Amino acid sequence: MPITTNKQSCDHKKSQSHIHKEAAGFAGVKMANLNLDAQARKMLKAAKLYCTAGRVAILKVLMEAGKPLSQDQIARQSGKKHFDKVTIYRTLESLLGVGLVHKAFMDKRAWHFELAHNCTESQCHPHFTCTSCGDTYCLTEISLPMAKSPHKGFVIQRQQVRLEGLCPACV
Ligand SMILES: [Zn+2]
Ligand SMILES: [Zn+2]
Ligand SMILES: [Zn+2]
Repeated sequence: MPITTNKQSCDHKKSQSHIHKEAAGFAGVKMANLNLDAQARKMLKAAKLYCTAGRVAILKVLMEAGKPLSQDQIARQSGKKHFDKVTIYRTLESLLGVGLVHKAFMDKRAWHFELAHNCTESQCHPHFTCTSCGDTYCLTEISLPMAKSPHKGFVIQRQQVRLEGLCPACV
């Protein structure tokens, strides 16, 4: 697909209709892909970040996954040979910096990243990891009360909870 070789950037002055027209110009691209592309561009625009090919690609991978992914998994699923580790790291840093992406948890010595749209400012939704198959689930429907500071002098700013157990397939 030629979509990634076209060096596009979101001109912030461009009207929404212009972006849609531009997206519709790619022949043979699946509709679902177009929607993800437009969604990624909209998110970047709202965060006042330029729409580089790398940022759009990573946001699309995270949207499609719907669960936290490690940097290696993101690299594999973005499917671009020229997309090296340093580029992915820097791109993730820029997305983390504006709060579009969160570091959900560390697993096997690797941070796992996900979109921040199912989180609040003070806490991420909890995650459940199956100790048998290793699958992780986003518990977006569960909101836990914020923990109280255990000792004087500690200020809790954010809460991230991770649960472990057996998934339905492994019980
Ligand atoms: Zn989060
Ligand atoms: Zn399982
Ligand atoms: Zn999650």
